[in-house]
Amino acid sequence: MSSAPLQQVLRHQHTAFANFFAGRAAYPRFKSRNGKQPAHDTRSAFRMRDGRLFLAKQQAPLAFVRSFDETDPAALDPTAVVVSREPDGRWYVAFAVEAEDPQPAPEAGSEVGIDLGVTDLATLSTGERIANPRHLERKARNLKRYRRRMARTTPGSANRNTAKKKAAAAHRKVRHARTDSLHRTTTRLVREHDVIAIEDLNVRGMTASAAGTVEAPGKRVRQKAGLNRSVLDAGLGEFRRQLEYKARHYGRTLIVVDRWYPGSKTCSHCGHVLDTLSLGTRRWTCPACRTRHDRDLNAAKNIRAAGRVAARERPPGEAWAPLGPRCANMRSLRSSHSRGGEYAGLAELAQ
Ligand SMILES: [Zn+2]
Repeated sequence: MSSAPLQQVLRHQHTAFANFFAGRAAYPRFKSRNGKQPAHDTRSAFRMRDGRLFLAKQQAPLAFVRSFDETDPAALDPTAVVVSREPDGRWYVAFAVEAEDPQPAPEAGSEVGIDLGVTDLATLSTGERIANPRHLERKARNLKRYRRRMARTTPGSANRNTAKKKAAAAHRKVRHARTDSLHRTTTRLVREHDVIAIEDLNVRGMTASAAGTVEAPGKRVRQKAGLNRSVLDAGLGEFRRQLEYKARHYGRTLIVVDRWYPGSKTCSHCGHVLDTLSLGTRRWTCPACRTRHDRDLNAAKNIRAAGRVAARERPPGEAWAPLGPRCANMRSLRSSHSRGGEYAGLAELAQ
């Protein structure tokens, strides 16, 4: 073990405490031994030669099992590497590389509103439905089976460990299938549209309670109680995160519509707002203009309309995305690397 990852851990801990004392984050927690185990190496602690990675204090280079097809490891000049072990026992290496700012994409002349769902991944205001990836259901069923099997074993036993590995592998498969389809979808969306409008889904709130309270009943209760709820919820947050950074890369405008906007209950044709619309109602007819609506498509059209208004109020071509807590973290992480004040957080701790 070289000194670099150990020092990096201290830096991360420093950032965590700095965020805590600044009121940006909760008190740092200890990391689980069974979770992801990342080790961060800075430039002094590794070498890349002929596409092989030599870590400090290691006799032999790391052998890569596989990489992205379009990436040649031999051509990389990373500024940092992160070696991590996932809960299922697989090892990964992530490289940080300096890259040119991407060119903004040519104007597409199109705007789109997106209604995110659970049965379908997304419904677009164009009428297109983007389904969840194939086999996701089957993978999710496997995951459920392995989790059940794990629950029947004695904690701390060898059988528990084996079952845990299998459950972790099943979870990885579900997660990867979902992430892959999210990446394909978000890339296509930012390529094809200048303005992309989505609902502001309160992802943290969604995971808290499916049923909600009597005063504020939960949305999509049935689906949210489904078998791969955690994966789906994570997918929605990831969808937005990808859209944010890809919109910024391509010079697109991302509009996040207020989540209290009654997109589902408003007629996209005449603007009539229904008093109520039950969760199970997939189709309805507007009492004012008699237009027949598909619930998700109607919502997507309203989101596009709201996004259009918001986009007009911004200077054209300016990529906009709200800064989430993740972005704030990344910024403070970078600034904590600069000299001066580096150990302020630790000093505070010692008092
Ligand atoms: Zn109407």
